[in-house]
Amino acid sequence: MFKILIKEGVIFREFNSHFVDFIGVLNDVAEKMGFIPTITSAAEGEHTLSSYHVLNCAWDIRTRGLKEVNMVVFNLGKNLEALDRRWEIIYGDKDHLDHIHVEFNLRS
Ligand SMILES: [Zn+2]
Repeated sequence: MFKILIKEGVIFREFNSHFVDFIGVLNDVAEKMGFIPTITSAAEGEHTLSSYHVLNCAWDIRTRGLKEVNMVVFNLGKNLEALDRRWEIIYGDKDHLDHIHVEFNLRS
């Protein structure tokens, strides 16, 4: 079953082909690993202007409640990079503990 939750207040300004790839891979990983993902950020204005969030090419996934965050990160990376090597995933530094940041890097 396809099911992805959206945190209250998250704003999407555009659905583009990168979003379709992201949401398809996220759903595949979630189904295989047995969790329901929550998107905690899309294009809200709290991010810096250079951020890919503002460019509708980055999304955050809640880690609270995930049992195997590192496996989620690994599987997302593996599946997205198989589609395009410009996908980047950030998790584990001090700014990325409560969420996994996923972006399609337009510059790389
Ligand atoms: Zn982010």
